Order: sequence, then structure tokens, then C-alpha cells
Amino acid sequence: MSSSPKRVALVTGGSRGIGLGIALALAESGFDLAINGVRDEADVAGSLTTLRKRGATAFYFQGDVSSPEDRTSMLDGIREEFGRLDVLVNNAGVAPKVRADILEATEESFDRVLGINLKGPYFLTQGAARWMIEQRSADANFRGVIVNISSVSATEASINRGDYCISKAGVAMATQLWAHRLAEFGIAVYEIRPGIIHTDMSAAVAEKYDRLIANGLTVENRWGEPEDVGRAVAMLARGDLTYATGNVLNIDGGLTLRRL
Ligand code: NAP
Repeated sequence: MSSSPKRVALVTGGSRGIGLGIALALAESGFDLAINGVRDEADVAGSLTTLRKRGATAFYFQGDVSSPEDRTSMLDGIREEFGRLDVLVNNAGVAPKVRADILEATEESFDRVLGINLKGPYFLTQGAARWMIEQRSADANFRGVIVNISSVSATEASINRGDYCISKAGVAMATQLWAHRLAEFGIAVYEIRPGIIHTDMSAAVAEKYDRLIANGLTVENRWGEPEDVGRAVAMLARGDLTYATGNVLNIDGGLTLRRL
């Protein structure tokens, strides 16, 4: 089977929110797109149309990133449709269903959040990396890129969503491990830590963040938008940042800037 002439990126959770912002920025940078999510394909038709209007060949691969079978069938599907994978963006993620104090929070929530936010991207990276190494051995010019979307919660402790914070701190270590392991194959691995970004995930707590931002939570006095994260990922995927594997980009309007 012949492979796609353009570089191909897989964006998990790529049909809405930050993931769609990333997929759109990649389409504008000349990538073809594989997007993933758990909803039915019929529900993401609008996102696929928007990506195609930006010049990308785009397909949807439904699957739960926490399921080994779904991860395998996603990568198999991309092999079948595109014949290549150049960029993996581990973006799919969930907040806990209930923001519960860590004295009360359940193991069930911990297992769900860690399964989707940490185990899923860790092992999807393993599967994608094996394929990227194969591509690199067939073509010395192959340049693989992996970007993990973690969060300011990798370092900022929120005691009403400990499971989420731990999952994102784990993603930070996973980034370092994979950057170390994959450098010899020319595969760069980066982490992006978004701050407060306008999406469905943050909608439930929008009033709280409106108030905090008005009171100086960030030094750039506004919400972040999915396009802010999209631009950063596109820069990394294009290879504009060199000799810098393992780096962390804070796309947070200065939320984590130390101040006095
Ligand atoms: P969102 O609007 O809730 O979208 C989440 C996306 O993840 C959806 O596309 C969803 O798929 C997908 N998803 C959820 N569970 C999945 C699973 N088990 N398997 C595959 N896909 C799954 O969230 P968002 O705000 O864009 O967040 C995207 C990433 O950024 C997450 O990792 C989040 O932790 C991180 N982040 C967000 C913020 C923020 O303020 N919004 C800040 C820092 C970090 P469906 O569309 O099919 O439901």
C-alpha cells in the first residue's frame, strides 16, 4: 500500500476543545489528520468537514485510549488509511466526574482518570513509537514527534481533584522517559502544560475561573483558547524547535509564573 504524501498526525480527543484546536493548526501546517474520540463518527462529522476545508485528508478513529484493544485498532486503522504516522498528540483526557476532596475521593474515580489520562497515552506512545522506529529504519529522513498535553495541574496541587493532578504529574514523567528512550531514533518528545482554556471541560467551572482571572490568576489577563495550544503543537510538529527534546511549554498566560 502506498503511504500518504503528507506527514500524518494522530490527535487523540481531536474532534472538540483543545484537540480540535490542535488538529486545525496541524491541518493549516500541511498535515493530514487522524482524530480520535469516544463519540460516534456521526457526532464528529462537522469537525471532519472543517479539517478537510483546511486542506487535510482527515479520518476519525473511534476508540477509548484506556483500552488496549482500541489503541491497537486505532493504529491499525491509521496504517490502513494513511500508511504512515509522523506525529502523535496525546491530548484526550478527562476531569473527575465529581470534584471531591481527597479525604473523600473514590478509588473508582482514581482508576478512571489515571486509565484515560496516564495509562492510555503512555501505552499509545509505546505502540506509536514502535511504528515510528520502523519508519525511521526504512527512511533516515523520517522525523517522529510526540507531544503530550498535560496541564498546569502537573505541578499545581488542587485538593479537590487529586486524581487529575497525579495523572498529569505522571504524564510529565512519561514525557521525560520517552524523550530519553526515543532520542536515538530521531523522535522528539515534548510536553505542553495548558492553563485555563475555554472548552467543554472547563465550562462547568467557568464562573469560578472568570472571577479568578479577573483577580489576577494569570499575568496575561484572559482565558486561554484551543488555538493557543494548537499553535504551540504545530510549531513542535513542524520541527521548528530543534535540539530541545523533553522540553515543557507552559501555555498558561503566566499562571505558573512565580511572583512576589
Ligand atoms: P474536552 O473539551 O472535555 O474534550 C476532551 C476530548 O477527549 C474529547 O474529544 C473526548 O472525546 C476525548 N476523550 C475523553 N475520554 C476519552 C477516551 N477514553 N478515549 C479517547 N478520547 C477521549 O477537554 P479539553 O479541555 O479539550 O481537554 C483536552 C486535554 O487538555 C485534556 O487532556 C485535558 O486534561 C487538558 N487540559 C485542559 C485544560 C482546560 O482548561 N480545558 C487545561 C489543562 C489541560 P469525545 O469528543 O468523543 O467525547
